[in-house]
Amino acid sequence: MSLRPYRDILRRKSRQIHVGKVPVGGGAPISVQTMTNTLTSDVEGTVAQIKVSEKAGVDIVRVSCPDEESTAALKDIVPQVSVPIVADIHFHYKRAIEAAKSGAACLRINPGNIGSAQRVKDVVRAAKDFNCSMRIGVNAGSLERHLLERYGEPCPEAMVESALDHAKILEDNDFHEFKISVKASDVFLAVAAYQQLADSCDHPLHLGVTEAGGLRVGTVKSSIGIGSLLWAGIGDTIRVSLSAEPVEEVKVGFDILKSLDLRHRGVRVVSCPSCARQGFDVIKTVQILEERLAHISTPVSLSIIGCVVNGPGEARETDVGITGGGSGSHKVYLNGVADHNINDEDKLDHIVKMVEQKAEEIEHAKTRALTTSQTHAAE
Ligand code: SF4
Repeated sequence: MSLRPYRDILRRKSRQIHVGKVPVGGGAPISVQTMTNTLTSDVEGTVAQIKVSEKAGVDIVRVSCPDEESTAALKDIVPQVSVPIVADIHFHYKRAIEAAKSGAACLRINPGNIGSAQRVKDVVRAAKDFNCSMRIGVNAGSLERHLLERYGEPCPEAMVESALDHAKILEDNDFHEFKISVKASDVFLAVAAYQQLADSCDHPLHLGVTEAGGLRVGTVKSSIGIGSLLWAGIGDTIRVSLSAEPVEEVKVGFDILKSLDLRHRGVRVVSCPSCARQGFDVIKTVQILEERLAHISTPVSLSIIGCVVNGPGEARETDVGITGGGSGSHKVYLNGVADHNINDEDKLDHIVKMVEQKAEEIEHAKTRALTTSQTHAAE
């Protein structure tokens, strides 16, 4: 029994597959994905964009492969990046085979859309030979005609049937290293489809609300859709789909996971909305500190609270805290305990230093614990 059962999420049991070095499903950490929007044939631009997302912690990146130039470019892209690359194929089976040969770790392809049984066999052969997994990606906007005719409109049942039809084709070819997505831009439809799919199979699920919109609206829609599924224990890997730079998708993805306590990375800021009681400009302080602390990947919590109404309480639950006080003197908390005061003009540099020190401390403790357990294991 956990200490706070109301915070527990019981994750759905799924099979585990691998996208390159990243395990997906079977209790593995929920991975965060994004997709490049450069021309894949522009190797330099694509690598640069992937590297920006890598810095933000992305686990897996997808690139579009609409033509031969793109799959050829994968040969140069893959060795220059450290995350596994998913090749987005859609219809053309030859692109899938080329992508597998060029180093893609996963193919996003729907086997029912690529034509003859022989083509499916050829793609599966290439995937097996080059250690590629696959993602079946059903989208409410491009459901097969016979399903639309039968169901009348895109609905959860039609999406699940489509997904399981594609899955059966792979299974009949003795291929099981795949995950499934059933995306829709409508949150209700996407969530219901994922819920039904989760009950119908044990394949790992890739979550997303597709064409969710720009940064603000898309973040809200994705947080509701992806968030409610994750909260119900459904989902093994996520992509937040935004009309914004790929790195924003990564940041929002991690924020969703952090909010649900499913994964921790970087500084988790707890801050108040501010009001007339604030002892310093909370909004500006949060903005600046978020930027200045973006390089930290160690999970550290930081409370930035305008006054004593909520400051001490929030600080008790965080690694580092600052609470606004009178006459430009603010209280700094360490490990939940009031520690010292800081002048207003020095607060930013000071908090950055405290958080960096805390991150170092946490990393050292981790290394020490690892060394101790290795020494014990060797004895
Ligand atoms: S913590 Fe203080 S400053 Fe912040 S919103 Fe509440 S009362 Fe206002």
